[in-house]
Amino acid sequence: MNGDKGLIGELEAVVGTDYVVSRSQDLVVYEYDGSVDKAMPAAVVLPSSTDEVSAVVAIAARHGVPVVARGAGTGLSGGAVAQHGGIVLAVTRMNHIIEIDTINSLAVVEPGVINLDISHAAAVHGLYFAPDPSSQRACTIGGNVAENSGGPHCLAYGVTTNHVLGMEVVFADGSVHSLGDRTRETVGYDLRGTIIGSEGTLAIVTKIVVRLLKEPEAVRTLLAVYSTIEDASSAVSGIIAAGIVPAALEMMDSLCIEAAEESVHAGYPKGAGAVLLVEVDGLAEAVEEEAAEIESVCQSFKPMEFRTATDPAERARLWAARKGVLGALGRLAPNYYLVDGTIPRTRLLEVLSAIEEISESVDLPIANLLHAGDGNLHPAVLFDERDPDELRRALHAGGEILKLCVASGGVLSGEHGIGLEKQEYMPLMFSDADMHAMAGLADAFETGGRFNPGKIFPTGHKHELGSQAGSVSRLGAGAYL
Ligand SMILES: Cc1cc2nc3c(=O)[nH]c(=O)nc-3n(C[C@H](O)[C@H](O)[C@H](O)COP(=O)(O)OP(=O)(O)OC[C@H]3O[C@@H](n4cnc5c(N)ncnc54)[C@H](O)[C@@H]3O)c2cc1C
Repeated sequence: MNGDKGLIGELEAVVGTDYVVSRSQDLVVYEYDGSVDKAMPAAVVLPSSTDEVSAVVAIAARHGVPVVARGAGTGLSGGAVAQHGGIVLAVTRMNHIIEIDTINSLAVVEPGVINLDISHAAAVHGLYFAPDPSSQRACTIGGNVAENSGGPHCLAYGVTTNHVLGMEVVFADGSVHSLGDRTRETVGYDLRGTIIGSEGTLAIVTKIVVRLLKEPEAVRTLLAVYSTIEDASSAVSGIIAAGIVPAALEMMDSLCIEAAEESVHAGYPKGAGAVLLVEVDGLAEAVEEEAAEIESVCQSFKPMEFRTATDPAERARLWAARKGVLGALGRLAPNYYLVDGTIPRTRLLEVLSAIEEISESVDLPIANLLHAGDGNLHPAVLFDERDPDELRRALHAGGEILKLCVASGGVLSGEHGIGLEKQEYMPLMFSDADMHAMAGLADAFETGGRFNPGKIFPTGHKHELGSQAGSVSRLGAGAYL
């Protein structure tokens, strides 16, 4: 498609020449997201309205070229990478909060709105948007919907799908549809739920109705510092076993603490083996009780230190270290490969020690940050991509960790999606028949394989599970092979 003046001209006629990017030196910034994969699109289009999205998609359909939706490009599984070229449709100009309905506690927003901006806009009404990915200062709500994103506070409040009531979408023929509504009840097939987590393969999301929650009366943020990761893991199990579901229950290991502390100076003790960041919120009285219970459990595992954030500034500092830790890992190595898998919370300790063995076997450090409360692991393999062998070993370690998660009774992704990163591992969880069923659903949306092709389903070509290509080819033409 490079050099296809006809196509570029048609796109420019819809969005204006300023909003079509087609020179290779400009396209470079759109060739990657937060993962390790890269591919150059033929053009990037930045529409400003649903009508423009619809017209762009219709042009792509006529020319038979792929369309890859893109928000902020913070995705960690290669979802916004245009593996098969074509048009990247970036929704960043569609960044308006259309309405905040305080009576019904909801907001209607465009897909390019930054996650945190919803809560900022709702705060004057005492409301907020609960799903809080650590990337929430940058990532878009459209990307959150496509990945069904989570975040530290999703332990108590649920992930994106629990907070999206309805949406407007554009199908692959350019037609515009409304799915779901402004209420929590739906009738008929839940197409809203189907689109959420579909990673841009079924429809382009152009408007979203999100639930807003009332800001809690009281919040307590607790920091428990342990000399070993074993003690911290035992404290997590202890909190869960006591039947407490805090708003957030996060863990960081020593490498994360070292990096975060150098960058944010939140007062995390550097020599510690692991820290737990626990938050409880709700009615003031209940919060006091729950915080006391959590402290008592944490104390029983002999912390080096236990602290309660007493003012909003200290609370913000503790969270800044947690939410900034990925960026801070740049202090330890040029690159990280962040793995995302889940395990049953009861197996935390054994899985973390198996990850330590994987780290030794590939001779690369692995920093562990966890949404520990819901068993969502984020081991970050530290490496230097300028050394091809380090990249190979990092990918190998990631694969071993994913296999470990599934073998332990967990799943391939807690929140970052499958994208390009985990597609070859899908057979670890799904039979051919399962994947046929999923591919059949994609067929029902009549995308012609043009929406974000080459994602989710295995191709047999990437990373290192090539031996499973046989089961992939049997999947047939319905999937993106
Ligand atoms: C430092 C850091 C911390 C992170 N922390 C978390 C975390 O705590 N929890 C978590 O869940 N994730 C986290 N992420 C991952 C990432 O931020 C989320 O997946 C986020 O939802 C991606 O949003 P985005 O706007 O960047 O989407 P992109 O990366 O641009 O796209 C992601 C996917 O969404 C699709 N897409 C985007 N917009 C649309 C649309 N309008 N319609 C249809 N499809 C669309 C794309 O095609 C792609 O498949 C983190 C990432 C970073 C870099």
